[in-house]
Amino acid sequence: MSTRYHCTREELAELLGGEPRYRVDQVWRGWYEQLATNEELTSVPKELRARLDEVAPLALTQVARRVSDDGDTVKYLWQLDDGNRIETVLMLYPDRVTVCVSSQAGCAMGCGFCATGQAGFERHLTVGEIVEQVARAARESKDLGRRLANVVFMGMGEPLANEAAVWGAVERIHGDLGLSARHLTISTIGIVPGIRALAGRPLPVNLAVSLHAANDADRNRLVPMNKRYPLDELTRACADYLQVKGRRISFEWALIEGVNDRDRDADELARLCRRFHPPAHVNLIPLNPTPGWPTKGSSPARVREFRQLLEDRGVNATVRRNRGTDIDAACGQLAAGHHDGAQPVSIETRPRQPG
Ligand code: SAH
Ligand code: SF4
Repeated sequence: MSTRYHCTREELAELLGGEPRYRVDQVWRGWYEQLATNEELTSVPKELRARLDEVAPLALTQVARRVSDDGDTVKYLWQLDDGNRIETVLMLYPDRVTVCVSSQAGCAMGCGFCATGQAGFERHLTVGEIVEQVARAARESKDLGRRLANVVFMGMGEPLANEAAVWGAVERIHGDLGLSARHLTISTIGIVPGIRALAGRPLPVNLAVSLHAANDADRNRLVPMNKRYPLDELTRACADYLQVKGRRISFEWALIEGVNDRDRDADELARLCRRFHPPAHVNLIPLNPTPGWPTKGSSPARVREFRQLLEDRGVNATVRRNRGTDIDAACGQLAAGHHDGAQPVSIETRPRQPG
């Protein structure tokens, strides 16, 4: 069975066998351009609207929706048709709206500092399950009077371990939901064949690599995948990506006290960044607490110092504001309810979905 955001326009036409083409187009535009529910497709006959629910139901059932105290971060917990659960985070900034989507239920990469990694791998998400996360967040954003324009593949899972489905979703998000490819960012732990596959795809999406250490000995300890794709190979794949796409590479660096926030770490990282032209950009994220990892994130003062060390060495760095820590919605905290330590600030459990 197909789902609303999984089927292609041609498959929808087949599912609705016999309906004239303009009807298919009406439904398609309703779903993708107006972000409408079937009920809201009032230009379409009622019987057809009812059939749409049957032939192409939604893939995600909302289990919970948590809003952080200031209301600018919304975390959705969804249930998939096989019972697996995933999360999506909508972030409303003064100047832009971004959604952080999951690409897998769980993750097989085993990074110890990450709640998703601690919980293990369940399965890959489908194109429809990924696109629907964006479409539903875009709808909420629209209802709030804001336009969702940015998608980051930084939720649960390793996007480049599920590259084909992620790419299928990118094409749909770009071609049908109408977001600019330059506003889409795929974050990877460094799956080299995935980076190479992405380089061979046509659209100039942004590549963010979760580096966390700039020498193999340290990185092997933090990121198990580094043993398979060591830094030398990884940076070569990044350089090739930059050359093909002309998009600046960015590195994610979760600052861990005493582990990768020393002066010499800044030195090494800056040297690595400067091997790229333009130099790679660094996103600094103070490590968020997770249940299965004892080490603390760097203090705010050290985060500022570390940023300055990079800047002094000619590397631009942004400190990511920690969003949604109070609702376990921050980087590395997504575990779909596997660990439910922190109390939500507000939980709103909604009926199934907006039909
Ligand atoms: N698997 C991909 C994308 C999802 S993780 C990847 O690893 O890049 C999204 C980002 O959150 C990555 O940069 C990841 O390294 C970071 N992250 C994981 N656990 C974290 C934690 N506890 N605190 C801060 N950032 C974390
Ligand atoms: Fe997977 Fe990314 Fe978490 Fe590592 S950091 S376990 S790759 S989600």
